[in-house]
Amino acid sequence: MVVYSKTNLNLEWRKIQKNNITSSEQLFKFLRLNSDGIEHIFLNPKFNLNIPLRLAQKIKKNDLNDPIFLQFVPLVKEQLVHPQFSTHPVLDTEFTRAPKLIQKYHGRALLLTSSACAMHCRFCFRQNFPYETSISNYDKELQAIQKDPSIQELILSGGDPLSLPDNKLRKLIQDLECIAHIKLLRFHTRFPIGIPERITKEFLEIIESSRLQTIFVIHTNHPKELDDDVLSALKKIHLSGATLLSHSVLLKNVNDNLETLETLFLKLAKSGIIPYYLNQLDKVQGSAHFEVDLKKGLQLTQALREKLPGYAVPRFIQEIPFEKHKTLL
Ligand SMILES: *Cc1c(COP(=O)(O)O)cnc(C)c1O
Ligand code: SF4
Repeated sequence: MVVYSKTNLNLEWRKIQKNNITSSEQLFKFLRLNSDGIEHIFLNPKFNLNIPLRLAQKIKKNDLNDPIFLQFVPLVKEQLVHPQFSTHPVLDTEFTRAPKLIQKYHGRALLLTSSACAMHCRFCFRQNFPYETSISNYDKELQAIQKDPSIQELILSGGDPLSLPDNKLRKLIQDLECIAHIKLLRFHTRFPIGIPERITKEFLEIIESSRLQTIFVIHTNHPKELDDDVLSALKKIHLSGATLLSHSVLLKNVNDNLETLETLFLKLAKSGIIPYYLNQLDKVQGSAHFEVDLKKGLQLTQALREKLPGYAVPRFIQEIPFEKHKTLL
């Protein structure tokens, strides 16, 4: 038996992350893909293959229609150029208040905490974002927040904020706590879906001891992503006093049917997580094959309302640049 000291436990997730599958050869072997399957794989995409082992293990062998496979494995069809799909669909760079601080909406600002993620989702709208990576501190961003008392909530996004080690997160949160008008701290994360070991004791202590009310928005698109280890990690966050919400993207052949969405949202509700947003796809280049017809999305949300308690039906929304809030569809 391996006995981990506290320090080792805190680094355990880093070791697990090093086992992510990032090479196509490794992937072909792991998924036992036959030559017909291999033909559909995009071998050297700029936004590289990156899938945690936990997620790869959930993919049915040699199945190109598996909902986890479709979300994470680069396909040749990503190279199709579609006139309505651009590299910067939500125009985040237009709303920069400091190099890593974006503000689009009243009262809340978003910090691009890290450019790294636990996994690379093929439909990600930030896959072409020109992250500022040369400066490793948040001095300019903290100064901008300090000067603007209308900002009450800071959203840690990215990339994924949980890519940062606990000591850096602790420092950042302590700096935010020194700004009196900041009351709410929000994490937008998908990390626990791929590497639930990231929810360390030390991280939970940071949340528990903070004067800021913490809100977690977990990005999850399919019930297969939510196994017992993942749900138990999320439960720990809940028990540390945070509010738990979910965010999903409507994706063709992944979750665009009533049964999958109903299972997903009920599973979340039963685990103490309130479904918050269901996003219509942001039109980022390379993701056209994920787009679901708006009419179908509306029919699905209506059908969900007829089956689920009101709190388990997320708001079906879209991000339209220059609107003062996300647009309810
Ligand atoms: C989506 C988003 C938010 C959060 O919006 P809510 O409606 O409060 O969830 C904040 N800032 C930016 C830049 C966003 O894209
Ligand atoms: S985890 Fe989030 S930010 Fe990272 S690639 Fe996936 S969708 Fe994009």
